[in-house]
Amino acid sequence: MSSVSPIQIPSRLPLLLTHEGVLLPGSTMRTSVDSARNLQLVRNRLLKGTSLQSTILGVIPNTPDPASDAQDLPPLHRIGTAALAVQVVGSNWPKPHYTLLITGLCRFQIVQVLKEKPYPIAEVEQLDRLEEFPSTCKMREELGELSEQFYKYAVQVSCFCFFSKPICPSTCKMREELGELSEQFYKYAVQLVEMLDMSVPAVAKLRRLLDSLPREALPDILTSIIRTSNKEKLQILDAVSLEERFKMTIPLLVRQIEGLKLLQKTRKPKQDDDKRVIAIRPIRRITHISGTLEDEDEDEDNDDIVMLEKKIQTSSMPEQAHKVCVKEIKRLKKMPQSMPEYALTRNYLELMVELPWNKSTTDRLDIRAARILLDNDHYAMEKLKKRVLEYLAVRQLKNNLKGPILCFVGPPGVGKTSVGRSVAKTLGREFHRIALGGVCDQSDIRGHRRTYVGSMPGRIINGLKTVGVNNPVFLLDEVDKLGKSLQGDPAAALLEVLDPEQNHNFTDHYLNVAFDLSQVLFIATANTTATIPAALLDRMEIIQVPGYTQEEKIEIAHRHLIPKQLEQHGLTPQQIQIPQVTTLDIITRYTREAGVRSLDRKLGAICRAVAVKVAEGQHKEAKLDRSDVTEREGCREHILEDEKPESISDTTDLALPPEMPILIDFHALKDILGPPMYEMEVSQRLSQPGVAIGLAWTPLGGEIMFVEASRMDGEGQLTLTGQLGDVMKESAHLAISWLRSNAKKYQLTNAFGSFDLLDNTDIHLHFPAGAVTKDGPSAGVTIVTCLASLFSGRLVRSDVAMTGEITLRGLVLPVGGIKDKVLAAHRAGLKQVIIPRRNEKDLEGIPGNWDPYCPWKDTP
Ligand code: ADP
Repeated sequence: MSSVSPIQIPSRLPLLLTHEGVLLPGSTMRTSVDSARNLQLVRNRLLKGTSLQSTILGVIPNTPDPASDAQDLPPLHRIGTAALAVQVVGSNWPKPHYTLLITGLCRFQIVQVLKEKPYPIAEVEQLDRLEEFPSTCKMREELGELSEQFYKYAVQVSCFCFFSKPICPSTCKMREELGELSEQFYKYAVQLVEMLDMSVPAVAKLRRLLDSLPREALPDILTSIIRTSNKEKLQILDAVSLEERFKMTIPLLVRQIEGLKLLQKTRKPKQDDDKRVIAIRPIRRITHISGTLEDEDEDEDNDDIVMLEKKIQTSSMPEQAHKVCVKEIKRLKKMPQSMPEYALTRNYLELMVELPWNKSTTDRLDIRAARILLDNDHYAMEKLKKRVLEYLAVRQLKNNLKGPILCFVGPPGVGKTSVGRSVAKTLGREFHRIALGGVCDQSDIRGHRRTYVGSMPGRIINGLKTVGVNNPVFLLDEVDKLGKSLQGDPAAALLEVLDPEQNHNFTDHYLNVAFDLSQVLFIATANTTATIPAALLDRMEIIQVPGYTQEEKIEIAHRHLIPKQLEQHGLTPQQIQIPQVTTLDIITRYTREAGVRSLDRKLGAICRAVAVKVAEGQHKEAKLDRSDVTEREGCREHILEDEKPESISDTTDLALPPEMPILIDFHALKDILGPPMYEMEVSQRLSQPGVAIGLAWTPLGGEIMFVEASRMDGEGQLTLTGQLGDVMKESAHLAISWLRSNAKKYQLTNAFGSFDLLDNTDIHLHFPAGAVTKDGPSAGVTIVTCLASLFSGRLVRSDVAMTGEITLRGLVLPVGGIKDKVLAAHRAGLKQVIIPRRNEKDLEGIPGNWDPYCPWKDTP
């Protein structure tokens, strides 16, 4: 054996800090990786690296550290075990979590920590001589190249690939003494093993190993087999000298032998079987050398399996699923726990028993109550509420879910999700939101096959597990943002989920048995229908949810958002007062959106700032005596009346008695939210000819869009800038052609007085807000107006926005998104909007407090 040359471990090792047990050389341990440091290590070294070196880790036992994710490295135990990472299992979703299977090789000592972040790396000194077990050496010779694959394979097949022994050269006397010690140790070890049931093959194998392994390797291996506490194991790990190691392990062996004797006596086995039971437990751990598992863990594991089996028997899963479970649990029982597949199979079975195969909530549907609830939770959005009620009514009458899936389409923050949640509430169902934005892998929907490392079920099955019933309301959020990639088309998988003809036996790849989704109520949301895959769109009923007017937003803020924010921040209306003018200021000067999401956030920021003041005020209150109160009231008046009150952050001024609400006026707004982000600059920008305001539609709602034009001497070139799509470019060319052909009629001339507008003249058209891609034909009318203004030298009215497509012959064609566009103009403070006549029908959906300009109505 001594002819085998020792293996040198790398002099720098990445450190894995474990707090679940102590890994000793020669044993294998499962450890879960959840601290940020260890996660980084696994990702960088194990999931990326391919060389063997990168899979040798320094395992340092670490006492549980409450701040394990803290920035600073905790004090490290100086001695650790170099280990081979055999397998990584785990997943990244819902949060990253891996389980590592590691096999201890030999002791090392930290010389110096070289790097702390993102995971510690240390210069180390090897303390044990590491050799390969002769039988694996032979295998290795046969296999030739020393490859990582080989190591993994070998470690799985036999845990005794390597053994370690102390390096220290010993004197003759020591050797003698050691000889005695090791002989004694060996005898106890044999005695222990012989107390076990020799008919179990693993015990027989262990018996043989006792003879073939070098004695020096035995203390480590036996310590991890027998019942020992972590503290004891740590002591053995720290015992660098062999003598010490023998001396420390012998009492542990004796204790185990005595324990076994006692057990056999007290349990007085009536039948042979009982004897076996007693014996088998230690054997199980011996067989797998999953040494560092604590005894309780072991028992727990076994109990868990029994529990799992019971759960499978009592579960109401369909027959097919039941069969699969029974088969899997049989396999599980035969598997050693250290095998990576053990954890996989167990996770699978746990999911199977947890899934709500037959568990559902009872629908309580009362249309009148539903109407009240929807009205209470949501202001405005009449069309949407009406359609939702119809849908619910039909369901109540027909009592089934077949029919199109509702899909709410509208800008962000208009309450799509919130209505979905209300639907669940009215039905008394569980609600679960599945975010589909950016999902580009069909396994996200349908799960990964179980053969993958890190395989997991898809989001649908995961959602069902989370809600625990089989008839929840699933909100498929952002179906328009599904991606596509090499990993398959998630839309196709979603089709199967949504199709009532197919979804009663939806098969997730991970589960590999059908699950009935027909009771799930799906509601989808999207910002635009343009990017929803056609086949999916076909199965959905689109309900447009447009943005809100300023008046609606004020109402929503005061009825819903402010009360909600107050509650979330522990404030009462007696402590803070936000008048409607302030809300309007927030809406017009601090947000520019179709929905109310930023408005909600700004209100949240205000509440936070006020909460600080109130808390500080209360704190002071406790300290002040009564005479101070009047003084502070005086101080409050000063704030309210002063034109420029002190900053809200000035605590002394706002330490008010609790009964006086803090008033949020524009000055307070500026203090909390900073200077206004949007000021009305429209009229300034339109102060010279060649600028007009158009209206554009985007998935985020309508927007106003400036069009600027300038002319210069040149050769009749047209330059377009500002991130334009092809359609937009064509519109620009059309507009110019039409103007050129009608120049005389409208008295348009270039700088040289010629009706040929491009004669010696270049035109530059610019569409500011360069970051946003603009496309679509609806800017035609705006471009014409802008150029007409440029060539006539007359200003465009600064309170007018327009939209409409033009043809070469000057016809104006209708365009889409009128309501969103009109609302955008309204938001920007524009008083009039010019729209194509054929869009007149779209005016119906626009709230009455808006007065659209209809030129055709003035001209009889
Ligand atoms: P979306 O799903 O359309 O992006 P959310 O449903 O998340 O928007 O709405 C954002 C916030 O605005 C939620 O707190 C919601 O309650 C609120 N909200 C939106 N519209 C209304 C409304 N009409 N009435 C009351 N609250 C609303």
